[in-house]
Amino acid sequence: MHLTRLDIIGFKSFADKTVLAFDKNITAIVGPNGSGKSNIADSLRWVLGEQSMKNLRGKKAEDIIFNGSKNKRRLGLVRVEITLDNTDGRGALEYPEIVISREMDRTGESTYRLNGHTVNLSDIVMFLAKSHFGQKSYAIIGQGMIDRIVNATPESRKDFFDE
Ligand code: ATP
Repeated sequence: MHLTRLDIIGFKSFADKTVLAFDKNITAIVGPNGSGKSNIADSLRWVLGEQSMKNLRGKKAEDIIFNGSKNKRRLGLVRVEITLDNTDGRGALEYPEIVISREMDRTGESTYRLNGHTVNLSDIVMFLAKSHFGQKSYAIIGQGMIDRIVNATPESRKDFFDE
């Protein structure tokens, strides 16, 4: 099972619908400081059910919704969707393609969908765990983390790798 596509609309700086296609090799996203590269990683965390605003670099839930710019009004809704290729059958659903989406309005209420069906967060968490798509099989290494690992004491570096 691997990630093939990420659809973002209304997430942080992404006011317009943005689609990223990933092939099986390495995908690099480049851009100047502040152009939204880390926001893409945040959107991936978010759609996979992230609950910690700290990990999403915000304070309150609505901080992740596009807040307006000089030319565009702020939005009331955010939606992120990931498409997973499951032709190898390793995902715990018998579909060749699995789509997970999360939507939220400014009240902070999230709606999760699995292949179009509204589900609970626990269903997403369970699906990911059964598909071995949990914390052990992917890693999001945020900005500044490498510095911290390199400069850490041997003990805290060990803690990091253990985790
Ligand atoms: P750097 O390389 O400096 O880390 P980056 O390309 O990773 O930059 P991000 O940190 O992903 O950039 O994006 C920061 C930009 O996102 C800032 O310009 C910030 O104003 C914008 N941003 C964050 N949240 C929102 C929001 N809710 N609405 C609109 N813009 C937002």
